[in-house]
Amino acid sequence: MPLQPTEKIWMNGELIDWHDAKIHVLTHSLHYGGAAFEGIRAYETDRGPAIFRLHEHMQRLLRTAKIIAMDVPYTVDELCAAACNVVRASGLPSAYIRPIVYLGYGEMGLNPLPCKVEVAIACWPWGSYLGDEGVKHGIRACISSWKRHDPNIIPPAAKVAGGYINSSMAKIEAMRAGYDEAILLNGQGYVAEGTGENIFVVRNRILYTPPTSAGALEGVTRDAVIKIARELGHDVREENILRSDLYTADEMFVVGTAAEVVPVRSVDDREIGEPGPITQSIQVTYHDAVRGKLERHAHWVTHING
Ligand code: PMP
Repeated sequence: MPLQPTEKIWMNGELIDWHDAKIHVLTHSLHYGGAAFEGIRAYETDRGPAIFRLHEHMQRLLRTAKIIAMDVPYTVDELCAAACNVVRASGLPSAYIRPIVYLGYGEMGLNPLPCKVEVAIACWPWGSYLGDEGVKHGIRACISSWKRHDPNIIPPAAKVAGGYINSSMAKIEAMRAGYDEAILLNGQGYVAEGTGENIFVVRNRILYTPPTSAGALEGVTRDAVIKIARELGHDVREENILRSDLYTADEMFVVGTAAEVVPVRSVDDREIGEPGPITQSIQVTYHDAVRGKLERHAHWVTHING
């Protein structure tokens, strides 16, 4: 889906016009992939747009920056305020928000330490990332021939731009083979995650998700879903999962900010079927949580108009 421009982009402390938010072709991060980024959603509520788990996303942004040794010249609170300003300026009822911390123009070569750290935050409208059909009836996934990168190659805990070439290669392979999404295994052969989502399987009414040590990003949605599932009375276990566990799952779904909660109907053409009752109840509860409708999790949402 082509990007739909909005009013303003926040760049290094200022709101500037969308079309003026430009960088030089010799920007360091464009060449070496050293940029920390986030994906956040704002949802429509009775009190105007509200951003889901804004603080947690900005905290992860700073953790990523720390891992790749970038000193971000803003605090979490300043970044949260900037994100609210961008959404407010857009006038959108709901939006996808993309903060990025990158190394700017002025130095070249592999040593990033002398580079200037720049920060931008944009937002735009973005519907169901894996498609409305997938949300209702489930997506078809395949196991990628590409492995997730090892924690000692690119730490999966870091949401760093360069690391996403791994996800993109897996996505290309899946799309060309006619699937909706790829699932990556780690070097040991255990399930790590989707190209942009964490994974859950249900077996005998117990939910399993790979531990972050299996190479999964510390997903904000994953964390919310674990909490929601436990509140719904389910046993949730962070355990290593095998490829064959996916084939024989009673239910399976992927979760992420862009994707939200999306059922998986088959893996490598082994049928799991239409979304099951546990997947559906988590989908419904997550839908309410992100819109601030769950009293218990009211603190998960930041109303941009106060
Ligand atoms: N894994 C990967 C590789 C991702 O890119 C994302 C999206 N940020 C996720 C998992 C899900 O993370 P979150 O729920 O925080 O969006």
